[in-house]
Amino acid sequence: MRRNADELAKMRKAGRVVAEIHEATRAVLRPGVTTADIDRAAREVLERRGAKSNFLNYHGFPAVVCTSPNSMIVHGIPSPDVVLVEGDLISVDCGAIVEGYHGDAAYTAGIGAVSDEAARLMDVTERSLEAGIDQLVPGNRLHEVGRAVQQVAEAAGFSVVREYVGHAIGTAMHEEPQVPNYWPGSPGPTLKTGMVFAVEPMVNAGGAATVQLDDGWSVVTADGRLSAHFEHTIAVTEDGPEVFTVL
Ligand code: MG
Ligand code: MG
Repeated sequence: MRRNADELAKMRKAGRVVAEIHEATRAVLRPGVTTADIDRAAREVLERRGAKSNFLNYHGFPAVVCTSPNSMIVHGIPSPDVVLVEGDLISVDCGAIVEGYHGDAAYTAGIGAVSDEAARLMDVTERSLEAGIDQLVPGNRLHEVGRAVQQVAEAAGFSVVREYVGHAIGTAMHEEPQVPNYWPGSPGPTLKTGMVFAVEPMVNAGGAATVQLDDGWSVVTADGRLSAHFEHTIAVTEDGPEVFTVL
């Protein structure tokens, strides 16, 4: 789907709200914070901006952010019982709807000082996202995104999650086509101006295998090792990729 200038302007607004949520939630991260506190900080931004959450009630999801600590990859449910401590990693994924158009972005941050491996995992995952974004230019093929992400992650000795992928985004959060974070064996659609994608590498320190917990949401690494997740919403433009989920 190609979005016109009016639609892209709305998506730019939604992306900015998501970036504001990132800023507000990062500001509460410290030892002793609960993942419910992170959700509360996100709700305040949505309220202030008059934006709707695309996470709340999504297939029954009970919060406006996903909070996934340490070996949890994605889809963690915020809770007053999950208290973050020095050395933890926390992945925060959230979105916003403005005038019917969606933004979606995620980051992973450390609580206080983290291990060398955790720091390297965050750095590599963020760099893999940047490498993927660089591929979003007119005329290129969509699956070059995944190839670039995979190259960065695997060159660092890490692995890329297969079961959860990025996606096109617009009037719904999850639109077709999907955006794998690996080379799926075919080049995929040709990129055109006005297309908008959420690119979201999930990179594991150990193996790629995942397990879903009994809550029906939380996805963790099968080997219990750390995972990181970075995501932006990006438009393909004549001038190259335009990241919407930034301030
Ligand atoms: Mg997301
Ligand atoms: Mg997404």
